[in-house]
This record gives sequence, structure tokens and C-alpha cells, in this order.
Amino acid sequence: MYNLQVQIDSNSGFCFGVIYAIQMAEDILDEQGYLYCLGDIVHNDEEVERLTRRGLRIIGHEEYRELHNEHVLIRAHGEPPATYQVALQNNLHLIDASCPVVLKLQNRIKTSYDKKEPIYIYGKHGHAEVVGLLGQTQNQAVVFQSIAELLQKELPRNITLYSQTTKSTSNFYNIKDLLIARGHTVEANDTICRQVSNRDKDLRKFAVKFNKIVFVSGTKSSNGKVLYQVCKDTNVNTYFVSKVEELKLDMFQPNDSVGICGATSTPMWLMENVRDALLAF
Ligand code: SF4
Repeated sequence: MYNLQVQIDSNSGFCFGVIYAIQMAEDILDEQGYLYCLGDIVHNDEEVERLTRRGLRIIGHEEYRELHNEHVLIRAHGEPPATYQVALQNNLHLIDASCPVVLKLQNRIKTSYDKKEPIYIYGKHGHAEVVGLLGQTQNQAVVFQSIAELLQKELPRNITLYSQTTKSTSNFYNIKDLLIARGHTVEANDTICRQVSNRDKDLRKFAVKFNKIVFVSGTKSSNGKVLYQVCKDTNVNTYFVSKVEELKLDMFQPNDSVGICGATSTPMWLMENVRDALLAF
């Protein structure tokens, strides 16, 4: 027996946007036994599998365009205006679980676009939230995912800067400072979700307290990558796992203290399963 001392971070687990979307899905699943969802409801394969077993049918945009007279859940990431137009044409009833934080960001970007500002969005190409943001600008805004990529572009003197909600706050401010240092006038809108940026600070405090950290997240989760890096920078003995089967004995020493934490898309039940597996080592 390894006699590990294990503790789950009470601040980890679903953010309110994801809790709301899953609650909405479960309510409809209880009523009608199945529900279409446009894209993965959450970037966590284990949770998607659990809900699929309950009747959730994940579809892509192609299948969505062919669908008629059904209920479809819009997940927390939000969607571009074109998705709502298809719903009108195809008589689809949308269960809109777009996160309020994302909706507010969409509105701000739309306002900047209407004022003809040059919009630059720090975000991941092709990410569902970013597609929804771009849609507010008729796909005219510029998306970049790193400083290197941004600097390859010919930049105007004035820049209106936005960020995908789950990007790293420190990177965002580094980008702003760099642009100012290069002579640009920057209207920087820090639109990073506080559910992510506050976790940043909390996780640093949590990660120093243990010999080992097990960070639990789906591999597709953007904030999972950011928050894992925060833990790794704070405690070099941090391991990323997306499911219980990825835990390995050689990650640990007897009597280690182990902290378990995760992303805003990591279900608490999964972290509890990880805890139970570690206690059985
Ligand atoms: S991370 Fe923030 S913006 Fe994204 S779904 Fe959660 S609460 Fe909403």
C-alpha cells in the first residue's frame, strides 16, 4: 500500500456556465429521453459519454443544417448568428445554454464591429467560442493565438483587442504591453472569464501544498491546458490525466501527499473517481 494522503481542490470542477448547460440538458433528457446538442456539450470525454448514455445526441454543424422540427441544445461556448438563422428556417427549437459571460463578449464585439473598429481576438483558431465571436463581425475580425502569429501580420495603428474567455490573463497583458511598446494605441478589453483567471491564483496556492498534483481534464479543454500549466509551473511534480486508467504507480512515492484539481470542464465525479483510485494504490 502506498498510503497516499489525497485531497480534492474544492475550487475545481465545473464553472457555472457548464453547470447550467448540463442542468438544462438533463432536464430535457428527463422529459423526452433524448436531445440533440450542437458540438460536445463540455470538453470532457468522460462527461460526454455519461450524457450520451442518457440520450444526448451530439451533432456537428453539417448534421444540424439537415435537422428539422427538433429540440437542439446550444452549449456554453455560444454560436454565431448563422446558427440561429438555420433554426428559424428548419423550425428547430433551440435550448440556448450559451454562457452569459460569452453572450456579453459577443455583444461587445458586435458593438465594436458596428463602430468599424479594427478587432483582434486572442484565441484559438476554430474553437467553437471563437467561431461564435467571429460571427459577430461577419468573420472580419482577426484571430491570433500567439504573439508570434500576431506580429507576422501588418497591424493598424489603433487596435481593439479582445480575448477568448479561457485564455491566460498574463499572456493577454503581455500582448497589450508589447503592442503599446511598438507604438500602437490599444483598446484592450480583458474579457477573460473570472471563473478561469481566479482559479489561476487559487490553484497556485493549492499546488504548492502537496508533493504531487494530479490535474484532471479532457485533452480538448482550452482552460484545462492553461490551468495545467499554472500547476506545473508551481509544482513541477504535476501530472495530467484525462481518466482514471492513466494514473500510474510510478508517479508516486509511498506516503506522498497528492492534490487533485481540474479545469472548468472537469466533473467532480471524475475527480472523486481519481481520488478513490489513488487511495487504493
Ligand atoms: S469558463 Fe466562464 S465563460 Fe466559459 S462557460 Fe465557464 S463561466 Fe462561462
